[in-house]
Amino acid sequence: MQIGTAKAHAGQLTEGWFDATELPTGSTERLPVLIADGVEDGPTLWITGSIHGNEVTGLAAAQDVMTETLAERLAGTVVCLPNLNPAGLRRTARTSYYHDDDPNRYFPEPTETTGQARVQERINERLFEQIEDTADAVVSLHTAGVDSLPFSIIERVHYGEFRTESEARELAATVQRLADAFGLPTVLEFEAEDHETRRLHRSLGAATLNVAGIPTFTPELGSHTVVQERPRESAVVGLRNVMCELGLLDESDRKPNALAPDSPVPFPVRRADHPATETAGIVRHLVDTGDVIEADEPVAEIVTPHGTRKTTIHSDHAGYVLARRNGVAVYENDSLLSMAVRDTGDTVVAR
Ligand SMILES: [Zn+2]
Repeated sequence: MQIGTAKAHAGQLTEGWFDATELPTGSTERLPVLIADGVEDGPTLWITGSIHGNEVTGLAAAQDVMTETLAERLAGTVVCLPNLNPAGLRRTARTSYYHDDDPNRYFPEPTETTGQARVQERINERLFEQIEDTADAVVSLHTAGVDSLPFSIIERVHYGEFRTESEARELAATVQRLADAFGLPTVLEFEAEDHETRRLHRSLGAATLNVAGIPTFTPELGSHTVVQERPRESAVVGLRNVMCELGLLDESDRKPNALAPDSPVPFPVRRADHPATETAGIVRHLVDTGDVIEADEPVAEIVTPHGTRKTTIHSDHAGYVLARRNGVAVYENDSLLSMAVRDTGDTVVAR
């Protein structure tokens, strides 16, 4: 196997570069590639990090899991690209600065035409081709908002165009198994309508899962901008445990993931930016990261700049707090929390 200039060598960790695009100023934008290739054959796992350039805990975890010792123990291959967005990484920014596009919203979606593809979409197509050709599973490492609880996003699997319903159920079960092996609480993606409005159907995770049919999940490793030590360490353990689950590592390599939080609730949940305020003002939250929320529970007050209470905001849903919104100044219809809310829907959907 070869990805860019990185060539797999049995029993070794090798590195190289994948050319993303030529820059107007004369150099090449290239992505770092690491390949750990086992002595024995087996499946191929892809690990990607920091497609959002400020999500640096994923970058660090991806770097740290790729060691010489790992390569010696593998049955199969791990391909790791710790940084999919060098332009964002240079500026500690989410987007690439080519056209300030969000790189994680331009992966292939055969049923949607977006007109003339800009450079970010071209880069994603090149990358997607490599993943589609070689990967048996993908872990796409991200981070979420400030002070967010670490969790893993699971996409709903589509059936109809690309696979049958029973194939979709099998794929969904594999995704859940791999995410459970990783060890963070799992949260289904936003509801379908929200999902497309946010263009999340064109994220790496959605495209590799729903277009290419490769089991993929997306750990969100706490806050952005600085490496957070506990989520980094738990991600390294989690990635190795995913390798055990895939048969890339021996079962004896599986370790308890002591730093990964347990799900605060026993029922299935989905991501929701909820509740919203109808009143503008300064938000004063009554709940914090990881708190369990009952339906109708008060979760925030909106106050005047002088501090007088204007209104109290309640949650419509039961669930728990993934994170409070960044910033305290809110306009009408702004959401106040990133929540994991009770979900009674199916993990596979006709599409
Ligand atoms: Zn991200």
